Amino acid sequence: MNLGRLLRRPIGIDNGEGAPRYPVKEALARMRCIIYRGDKRECSCCGRAFSLFLFSPYMTARCPNCLSMERYRLLCRYLRDETDFGSEEISLLDVAPTWEFQEFCRSYENVEYVSIDIASPLAMLHMDIRDLDFDDSRFDRIICYHVIEHIDDDMKALRELYRVLKPGGWAIIQVPILIDKTVERSELTEEEAEEILKYEDHLRGYGRDFADLLETAGFDVEVLPFVKRFTPEEIERYGLDETEDLYLCRK
Ligand SMILES: [Zn+2]
Repeated sequence: MNLGRLLRRPIGIDNGEGAPRYPVKEALARMRCIIYRGDKRECSCCGRAFSLFLFSPYMTARCPNCLSMERYRLLCRYLRDETDFGSEEISLLDVAPTWEFQEFCRSYENVEYVSIDIASPLAMLHMDIRDLDFDDSRFDRIICYHVIEHIDDDMKALRELYRVLKPGGWAIIQVPILIDKTVERSELTEEEAEEILKYEDHLRGYGRDFADLLETAGFDVEVLPFVKRFTPEEIERYGLDETEDLYLCRK
């Protein structure tokens, strides 16, 4: 077994909720925390401070401890600073989970955390976002980060997210916004697709009309330029994504 697969492999006992622990990954994180000890950078997901963020081949600056990316640090910062996250009992659905956000949610006792993915071993349940095996109005909160651009029938997926969200609840649904008007890969030449979409598994490039799509699925949408409230020095210290507005979707 190669090292990557070993690190992703669930080893050990789950926490009683079906979410596996990753002792090898956690041991490596402890080691990186020692190497990168310092106080110049601060991760909003795990709350720890470091001398530097890690450089990654995807041009993102990852947290030495929890490996969070800029957009997840921005999300955790938003949830912590601007919402009632953690102050009341809520159920949260995380679509296509990441380790850092799973750990962030687990740190709040009153958050019932449920994660799904079509195949990821990190996910608690495997299911298709276009056909969710949940009752209507099951969740108070939904987080769906950079998933919809991979789904062939995006409206079906969005309508499913709307269906399982409780009335009065809200979701944050993010995609890369690349252009003015959303375009399908099938409408682009190979050269255009390479230039606009960049990644082979992105089925479309979303534009600023993404909010309209969310509204068609049923949501009331507010586009929040949350990152704009931070100074350049704070953006560097907290390693936040400067490019993403947050799409807050209420039901
Ligand atoms: Zn972190």
